[in-house]
Amino acid sequence: MHSTVEQPADVVTRLRATFRTGRTKPLAWRTEQLRGLRTMLTEHGRELAAALHSDLGKSEREAFRTEIDFTVREIDHTLERLEDWLRPAPVDVPPHLGGATAWTVQDPLGLVLVIAPWNYPAQLLLAPVVGALAAGNCVVAKPSELAPATSRVIAELLPRYVDSDAVAVVEGAVPETTALLEQRFDHIFYTGNGTVGRIVMRAAAEHLTPVTLELGGKSPAFVDRGTDLQTVASRLVATKFLNAGQTCVAPDYVLTDPQTARELEGALEKAVQAAYGTDAADSPDYGRIVNERHFDRLTGLLGSGRLVVGGGHDRTRRYLAPTVLAEVSPDSPVMAEEIFGPILPIVEVEDLDRAIAFINDRDKPLALYAFTESGTTRERLVSETSSGGVGFGLPVAHLTVSDLPFGGVGESGMGRYHGHYSLETFSHRKAVLDKPLG
Ligand code: NAD
Repeated sequence: MHSTVEQPADVVTRLRATFRTGRTKPLAWRTEQLRGLRTMLTEHGRELAAALHSDLGKSEREAFRTEIDFTVREIDHTLERLEDWLRPAPVDVPPHLGGATAWTVQDPLGLVLVIAPWNYPAQLLLAPVVGALAAGNCVVAKPSELAPATSRVIAELLPRYVDSDAVAVVEGAVPETTALLEQRFDHIFYTGNGTVGRIVMRAAAEHLTPVTLELGGKSPAFVDRGTDLQTVASRLVATKFLNAGQTCVAPDYVLTDPQTARELEGALEKAVQAAYGTDAADSPDYGRIVNERHFDRLTGLLGSGRLVVGGGHDRTRRYLAPTVLAEVSPDSPVMAEEIFGPILPIVEVEDLDRAIAFINDRDKPLALYAFTESGTTRERLVSETSSGGVGFGLPVAHLTVSDLPFGGVGESGMGRYHGHYSLETFSHRKAVLDKPLG
C-alpha cells in the first residue's frame, strides 16, 4: 500500500520502474489484473453502487446495469479473447523480398494516464483501465472529483485487487490533474468536455504523448413519419432520462416533421409517466443533477420552446423533472450547447433532406439516432452524415456491444475503445520483418 499523498512525479517514477522490469508483459500478468479487477467489482459492487447513489442518486439497479456489470462484461469479453488478440499477425511479403516473412506484434506503450468524468464515474474510469491492463501497461487512474464518493471507494479498493506497483489511483481536482499532466505518459485517455480536452492535448503535446479524447456534443434523434411513436417515445425516454440525462450518448434533441412532432408530444408524456409515475421526484429509478452549478445551468434552459412535459425542479434536492420542450427554435439557448440533463427539445424540420442539412451544419455528434422503417433513409443517414456512431431504433445501446468501436469524431473526440479497439488504443502495433541470411 502507498500513501495517497504520494506526489505525481513519484507515482510516475514508481510505475515506470515497474514497467521496466517487464513483468506487465506476459499474458498471465494481464489476465491476473483483469481477474483482480473483476473480483473487486463483484465483491464490492454494492459498496460502489452506494457511492454512485450518494454522488448521483443512481438506483442500485442502474448502477449495476450501466457501471458495474457493464465493466464486468467488458472484462469477460477481453479475458475470453486476449490470448487470440495478442497472437502475432502475419502479413504478405512482396516478391522482391523472396524468402522473407513479416508480421506485427502489439507492444504495450508503457505508462498510461486515464482521466475520467463524473457522470459514469466508475465505468468511464475502469473500462479504459481494462484496456490499458489488457495491453500490458502500467496505469495512473484519475477519477472525477465531482463524484467524490465513487472516487474514494475506487481509490481505496483498486490497489488491493491489482498490482499496486503497476496501477495507481490519484484523486483530485484541477491542481492535481494539472500536476499529473506535467508528467510524461505514453498515452493519455481523457473522457469529459472539449474545453478540458484541449488542455489535455496541449499538455500531451509537450511530451509528444498520443491522446484519446472521448468528448460529448449534441446527439440528434431523427424520428421519421409513420413510425410507431409509442415505441419511439418509450425508447427515447429510457435513454434520455437515464442518469437524469447526464449521459454523453443520450439523445440530445429530437428532429422531426411538424405533424409527427405533435403526435410525439403525447406519446412522450405517456412514456415518462410509464417510466417514472406521475411524479418522478418520488421514483427510486430517477437520478439527480450532479451539483448546483449544473442544476442552475439546466433550469436556465427551460425557457426555450413550449413546455410539454415536466419542468418541475427543486434546487435543494438537485431534482429536475424529465422535461420535453416542443417547437424549439434552432437558435434558442437549449440548442446552443450539449444539454447533459433531463431536457428533451423537439426541433421541427420539413423532411429528411433538411434533417441531414441540420445535422451537417453543426459539430459532428458523438452519436446519431434515427427511428425509421425506411432502408433508404437509414442508408442516407449513415452515408451523408458524420458522427462517432449510429443507432437505429434504440439510442445508447451501440456502446454496450464490445466489438463495436466507441469514440467520437471532430468535436466529439478522437480515438476509440472497447473490446479489441481498447487493445489497439493502448498498444503500439510493431512491424517485424525477418529475411533469412542464407
Ligand atoms: P468533469 O468535470 O468530471 O471533468 C472530467 C475530468 O477532467 C475530471 O477528472 C476533472 O478532474 C478533469 N479536469 C477538469 N478540469 C480540468 C482542468 N482544467 N485541467 C485538467 N483536468 C481537468 O466532467 P465533464 O467534463 O463535466 O464531463 C461531462 C462531459 O463529458 C460532457 O460533455 C459529456 O458529453 C462528456 N462525456 C463524454 C463521454 C464519452 O465517452 N465520449 C462520456 C461521458 C461524458
